[in-house]
Amino acid sequence: MKRSLYWVNKDLRLNDNLALNLASKSDKLLCVYVVDKKWFEENNYQSKPLGDNRWHFLQSCLSDFNESLLTLGQQLYIVYGDTLSTLASLCEKYQITDVITTCLPGTTENKITARLIERFPKISVNKVEQFTLFTQELLPFELQQLPNSYSKFRKLMTEIVPPRISQTINHLPEMFKDMPSPTLFRPQWLPDSPYKNVKKGHTFYGGERAGQEQLNHYFSSDLPLNYKQVRNNLDGWKSSSKLSPWLGYGCISPRQVFDAIIAFEAERGKNSSTECLYLEILWREYFQWLHFKMGIKTYQFKGLSQQAPLTTFYPERFNKWCLGNTPYPLVNAFMIELKETGYLSNRGRQITASCLVNELSIDWRYGAAWFEEQLVDYDAAVNWGNWQYIAGVGADPRGGRHFNIEKQTTLYDPDSTYQIKWTLACDINKLSNQPLDSLDAADWPVVLPSSNDE
Ligand SMILES: Cc1cc2nc3c(=O)[nH]c(=O)nc-3n(C[C@H](O)[C@H](O)[C@H](O)COP(=O)(O)OP(=O)(O)OC[C@H]3O[C@@H](n4cnc5c(N)ncnc54)[C@H](O)[C@@H]3O)c2cc1C
Repeated sequence: MKRSLYWVNKDLRLNDNLALNLASKSDKLLCVYVVDKKWFEENNYQSKPLGDNRWHFLQSCLSDFNESLLTLGQQLYIVYGDTLSTLASLCEKYQITDVITTCLPGTTENKITARLIERFPKISVNKVEQFTLFTQELLPFELQQLPNSYSKFRKLMTEIVPPRISQTINHLPEMFKDMPSPTLFRPQWLPDSPYKNVKKGHTFYGGERAGQEQLNHYFSSDLPLNYKQVRNNLDGWKSSSKLSPWLGYGCISPRQVFDAIIAFEAERGKNSSTECLYLEILWREYFQWLHFKMGIKTYQFKGLSQQAPLTTFYPERFNKWCLGNTPYPLVNAFMIELKETGYLSNRGRQITASCLVNELSIDWRYGAAWFEEQLVDYDAAVNWGNWQYIAGVGADPRGGRHFNIEKQTTLYDPDSTYQIKWTLACDINKLSNQPLDSLDAADWPVVLPSSNDE
């Protein structure tokens, strides 16, 4: 008798879900999603792992997945609490024989499965490889031999073909008899943040249906043919695929995106833009494997390089950066968009990250943690990997990136359209004349010379 617990995580979809396929072969099945209390608590970097924008997105992902499970006679049990103790007590209560989950590079997830194995040696724990495009077996090198640069990785992966998309299931085993009613109970520590209507910028709706819609919409248009020309734009729904939030929660799989690129190329032709789009998916892939290889070093100050950057923590500067109140108008506009919508273009992320590290001399991990809280598409490997890259402690042979803000403004926002959209026009010049710190090195208030002074 196979009594399975499917720990649903970053795989909130019915289609191309190998973990669910495996779970479908059980005799009894419990599908569980744990909303962990720690996600809403402030961490060491003065941010929370899960902010309002992504929490809203996640809630729609959960209800969409639950609706899909209901059509197959199953249900998603959402439990609020501590992940490890929740899973452990369910394993005990329902005499679980098999735990099935998606294999993720995150150190927390891996610690949890390791503890479950320790505690229940008789339970078989299956971690299904489907968050990545390839499986570890398909990599043409041992994980520890993963190159420390993306370009080397890309060359090695040229000939490797990802696994095919798995069949969609049309049947799921029955639930356990004495299941508690699926939770309507909301603990007090859950934020009571009503959906806010984003007035400007992009709104993302969670769930497989919305993700598939965006995938179909993007690849049935001409947009992939021009991706390379427009991908660095600061604004606009059409300037990139906008698939990242759904990839982040596994509402769509990287293999589905890969197939969509191949199908598009077969029908409309391959060009440098479609290739470039695939190379971005491969960047995502690289960061996932890098995280698997580096483990906890992904989150450490010295990163992959093992050399400490010359930065520290300045609370006032950090606060100004988060709120979009720095002397750099373009950075301010980006930070306001991020906070309002939970999304930022790739160029916006690069410029704001570079500003935090190079202009403000702040420890990059504070920036990465702020992005973690704010982004709807937060992905541990991609976020912390990109931050390391820019801070010069990651997989960058050039040792970090410093974006010239003035030059970037001239290139991408020459007539200030983007800045005016996110800040008040009058703020643009006013803030750029403000000092970075209100106190000098001796703790004296910094006073700006008035316009009458010399
Ligand atoms: C400091 C910093 C932090 C970032 N944090 C995240 C994050 O938490 N989650 C996240 O998904 N992306 C992150 N990115 C990467 C990138 O900015 C986003 O993936 C992209 O902007 C999402 O929009 P899109 O789906 O329209 O991307 P597209 O341009 O359409 O690209 C298609 C897909 O390729 C992948 N991709 C694109 N750019 C990158 C990149 N630079 N690195 C790795 N994969 C990439 C994503 O999966 C994306 O959905 C970060 C980049 C930087 C510089």
